Amino acid sequence: KQTLLKVTDLKTYFPVTGGIFGGVKAHVKAVDGVSFEVYQGETLGLVGESGCGKSTTGRTVLRLIEPTAGNITFEDQDILKLKKSEMVKLRKEMQMIFQDPYSSLNPRKMIKEIIGQAYEIHAPSMNKKEREEKIAGLLKEVGLNPDYLVRYPHEFSGGQRQRIGIARAIALNPKLIIADEPVSALDVSIQSQVLNLMNELQQKYGLTYIFIAHNLSVVRHLSDRVGVMYLGKIVELTDSDSLYKKPLHPYTQALLSAIPIPVVGGKKAHVILEGDVPSPLNPPTGCRFHTRCRYCMNICKEAEPEFKDIGNNHFVACHLMDK
Ligand code: SF4
Ligand code: MG
Repeated sequence: KQTLLKVTDLKTYFPVTGGIFGGVKAHVKAVDGVSFEVYQGETLGLVGESGCGKSTTGRTVLRLIEPTAGNITFEDQDILKLKKSEMVKLRKEMQMIFQDPYSSLNPRKMIKEIIGQAYEIHAPSMNKKEREEKIAGLLKEVGLNPDYLVRYPHEFSGGQRQRIGIARAIALNPKLIIADEPVSALDVSIQSQVLNLMNELQQKYGLTYIFIAHNLSVVRHLSDRVGVMYLGKIVELTDSDSLYKKPLHPYTQALLSAIPIPVVGGKKAHVILEGDVPSPLNPPTGCRFHTRCRYCMNICKEAEPEFKDIGNNHFVACHLMDK
C-alpha cells in the first residue's frame, strides 16, 4: 500500500481570549496529537461526536487552518513547509466536500461560476467555451442535467447541491478529497444516492477519501479503515471489518452499541454513553475518556494511554490493552 498522506502528532489549538486584559486565557485543544496515514485509493473514515476535532483535523490537513504543531506530508512533500503560493498549487490535488450544501455554494453565483472558479485559478489558459464544456461534462458526471450550469444554487434541492459540491471537488482531478459530513444535512432517502455517487467516482478516478462523520453507520459502507476520535485524539484506528466486528476501545464499543449492528461472537451489549463530552478547554487527565468509561481503572485517571499498534495495524489507545 502506498501512503498518500501522513499526519504525525498533529495539534491544532485555538486561543480563547478574554479576561480583564483581553489576552489569551486558554486554548481549546481541538486536535491534540493525532497521527494517521491515508493510503492511495482508500477511504479512511474519521468518526466522533461533535467537538471531537474531526472537522478541524480535515481542515488542518488542507491548511485551511494552520496547525499548532505536528507534521503533514502529502506524497512525501512536507506541506507545512510550503509557502502560500505553493499551497495554492497543491490545492489542486486536495479538495474538500463540505457538510452544508446550502451555505457552501455562493447564492449569488451561477453554477458555472461556482465550479469555474477552480479553472480560473488553476487553468487560466482555458477559454470560456472550453470551461463551460468541461463544467457541463462534470454536471453529467454527478448525475445532473448539463444545462443546469446557468442556474443558481437556490434552484436546487439539498441532494442536488451536494452533487454540485462534488462536481466542484472533482473539477481539477484531485488525488485526495476530504468529505466533511457530506450527507448529514440530507434526507435519509437521498444519503445513499450521494454515497453511491462518491463510490462510483472513487472507482473511476482512483480517488482517495477522508470521510468525516459523526456516526459509525454512515461511513461503514464506504470506508476501508476507520479512525474513532474523542476529545482531540484518535482512540482507535483499524480496518473496517475489525472495527465493526471487534471494537477494542470502550468508546468505540459504546458508539457501536448505539447503532443496530450486531457484534459478532457475543450478545450485543447496550453500552450507554453516560454524561456529556468534557470541554476540550480542560480535558480530563490521563485517558480523556475516563470520566465516561465503565472500565475506568486508577491508572486511567493518571496516565495517558499510548496510541499503539496491537497487531495488524490495529491502533488502540487504552490501558486495557496492556493487560
Ligand atoms: Fe477506559 Fe481506561 Fe481504556 Fe480510557 S484507558 S478507555 S478509561 S479503560
Ligand atoms: Mg464538524
